[in-house]
Amino acid sequence: MPQMIDVRSDTVTRPTPAMLEAMLQAQVGDDVFGEDETVNELQRKAADLFGKEAALFCPTGTMSNQIGIKIHTQPGDEVICDELAHIYLYEGGGIAANSGSSVRLLQGQHGRFTAAQVRENINRRDDSHLPWTRLVAIENTVNKGGGCCWDLSEIERIRAVCKEHDIAMHLDGARLFNALVARNEAPRDHGPLFETISICLSKGLGAPAGSLLLGSRALISRAHRQRKLLGGGMRQAGYLAAAGLFALEHNVQRLQEDHRKARALEAELRSLPYVSSVLPVETNIVIFKLHEQLPAELFLQQLQHQQVRALSMGRQTIRFVFHLNVSDAQLEALLAALRGIRVPA
Ligand SMILES: *Cc1c(COP(=O)(O)O)cnc(C)c1O
Repeated sequence: MPQMIDVRSDTVTRPTPAMLEAMLQAQVGDDVFGEDETVNELQRKAADLFGKEAALFCPTGTMSNQIGIKIHTQPGDEVICDELAHIYLYEGGGIAANSGSSVRLLQGQHGRFTAAQVRENINRRDDSHLPWTRLVAIENTVNKGGGCCWDLSEIERIRAVCKEHDIAMHLDGARLFNALVARNEAPRDHGPLFETISICLSKGLGAPAGSLLLGSRALISRAHRQRKLLGGGMRQAGYLAAAGLFALEHNVQRLQEDHRKARALEAELRSLPYVSSVLPVETNIVIFKLHEQLPAELFLQQLQHQQVRALSMGRQTIRFVFHLNVSDAQLEALLAALRGIRVPA
């Protein structure tokens, strides 16, 4: 039986034999006592990569985002983010539950807003009616924006506005490495623009689990306490950290391969009669809309018969995500499967 082509998400990857070997060789200890050498090394390396003082290893990206938001805010404060943001849509209402903050949603372009929009939505602090705007959160790449990347210059302009108003900035960088590779930017281009950055090791980088929150020593020390409160302190986490170290060393530049495959799919989709629109493809995510005659459910059913699994993001919207477990041969099979889709009369 041909192998299933799973493009539902870049989280479905399995560790390669080389990554598993690195995990087996890890030096570990009790990280709650700060004694896991491999966790310490991963935290040091990641912080250094972005020019930050410190980092904290967390089990998930949701936890590192939620901790990041928590350490910048007090209940009654307000967070500015885009209406497509993962922190707002897909973290279980965590901003309200964990931080007691309200959210001001901006309507950006595929999840990217402007410095002018931020300026217009900052509340004055001398009016006691208003929640205090404390944090601006950016997502790069934007998952729901079809994996698009931010322009560094716009982030710099937002940074200037935030500085003027004493507002912190958090980056949800679950797929930041995709943006860095696509835009040919360095981690240190982004490091100084945010108080905190969360990055995921378990998306395109291919580790089985793990995320990091980066920031100043003072902020990460507060983050450490918040991780405890959330039950996120892990013991011999070095086995997972070893996978993360391996991923940072071997799986960053290869993200270009995923981007190339995503662009090949985009080109194919633009020629198919049952596709009504495709979001511009810049990284490893492809989001497109089907014509009315072809409901997402029927489309996915037919694909599944061709050994392809994808995800629906609404009645007519489909998402494909490329990752290190999709080969060139599988890409070809995927394109052939798409050409064979039948549309009901
Ligand atoms: C996946 C993801 C996260 C974190 O998700 P976890 O599953 O908790 O690791 C955060 N932000 C974005 C944009 C994501 O895609």
